Amino acid sequence: MFRYIVLLGFILLGVSACSSQQSQDFKETRFMLGTIVEFTVYDANETLALKAIQQAAAAMQAVEDEFTTYGQVFNTVKAFNQAQPTEVIQLAPDVEALLLQAINIHEQTLGAFDPTLGELNQLWGFSGGQPPTTPPSKQKISHGLHYSGVENIRHLNKGWTKKIAGLQLDFGAIAKGLAIDKGIEVFKQYGLEHAIINAGGDIRVLGNHGLQPWRIGIRHPRQATALGWIEVGQDLSVVTSGDYERFYMYRGQRYHHILDPKTGEPATQNMSVTVIAETATVADALSTGLFVLGQKQGMDLVEKMAGVEALWVGKDQKIRMSSGMKTIFHISDVAHKK
Ligand code: ADP
Ligand code: MG
Repeated sequence: MFRYIVLLGFILLGVSACSSQQSQDFKETRFMLGTIVEFTVYDANETLALKAIQQAAAAMQAVEDEFTTYGQVFNTVKAFNQAQPTEVIQLAPDVEALLLQAINIHEQTLGAFDPTLGELNQLWGFSGGQPPTTPPSKQKISHGLHYSGVENIRHLNKGWTKKIAGLQLDFGAIAKGLAIDKGIEVFKQYGLEHAIINAGGDIRVLGNHGLQPWRIGIRHPRQATALGWIEVGQDLSVVTSGDYERFYMYRGQRYHHILDPKTGEPATQNMSVTVIAETATVADALSTGLFVLGQKQGMDLVEKMAGVEALWVGKDQKIRMSSGMKTIFHISDVAHKK
């Protein structure tokens, strides 16, 4: 995920309001994590706001460096991916913690979210280098499937090992969320109360926008317009996974970057899934997992999870929402007419 400029899945709509005369928006934009990251701090203290943004960006860059499987930088994910089954690799603390969380979400989503799809992701080629134009052969896909599977990694006392050489970890569907959470953590350390980090449509909000909530537009998966919007006036994360972010068309069929671990091919149930959760890490991983999972199973899971809501746009372009989402999502006129 780190090498692509993805289409922004969300449109962040600024709502102009001032809770006090001094407070205003301080904004900065960076290119990192393979996307455009926009920082907005609503505060009265410009020096503090800008310093916090620098530090938040540095914390997010550190996450990218720890998890990326591209470029020259060394990290423990690369060490694990290159290791032989006889080796035990000690993962960096953040990497180990995120892997454990990823395995947990793998179980909750009945295997739909899978952090071991590195070989398959490379095969499909959406994550780096030249974008592909044709799908890989069935033979190559079954080869890629063989080199995946959470059951093929093991946690030992001294670190992590794999059962088969060639298995590769890939945190592309969750590390951006962790980076956003780390950025927001920095804002909190600086005592800031109103801020938003938007990493290519993956968003976490802190507080509100003065007297008004932050307004987050959710992109229509097939039109260059908003499907609707959510108003958020508390600490929350909103993340969307969609088949429109990285894809190509081949013989009338859409091939995109979110794979079904059961088939090794792009998941076919949905056009997009938006998740609201407390942290961006959970929202990021769940939006990918729910994108793959069937809508009924996904709905059952979301309704069970405290503080999690979701919105699905199915292959038929029909919108489905969890009970809590229905109370906060405002559908746009364009989407209504569909
Ligand atoms: P984006 O990176 O565009 O925001 P996602 O968060 O949905 O989108 O992550 C997609 C990335 O996650 C893919 O590019 C790939 O690296 C990885 N991935 C693909 N399918 C899965 C899956 N089923 N489970 C976990 N990671 C996946
Ligand atoms: Mg994700």
